[in-house]
Amino acid sequence: MLPKVILTTAWAELEGFSDAETADFFTIDKKTASRADKNGACPRCHRVPNDCIKKFSSWEPSVYVERIKGVDYVVCLCGTVYYIDISIDVTGRGDSASTTGWQ
Ligand SMILES: [Zn+2]
Repeated sequence: MLPKVILTTAWAELEGFSDAETADFFTIDKKTASRADKNGACPRCHRVPNDCIKKFSSWEPSVYVERIKGVDYVVCLCGTVYYIDISIDVTGRGDSASTTGWQ
């Protein structure tokens, strides 16, 4: 297994990058990203998001204390760029971390 490095938006903020600048840093072209498949995986080869070349998480500042929403942009090992809408229940009730489809 190859080692992985995960850089977060907290790192980007410390570096003074905006989300757009951070995405550019990773050269993920959001405009060409396809939607993930129904299981939240690559729409082309169906690998899970952690099987990626790189991933960029863009979390919205939330006024909701019970749920954080955001989008993950993934460059799959097959080269496909796709996005996943993410919604995480931070209360500990219900699902802990799951993709919610595209509401
Ligand atoms: Zn793929």
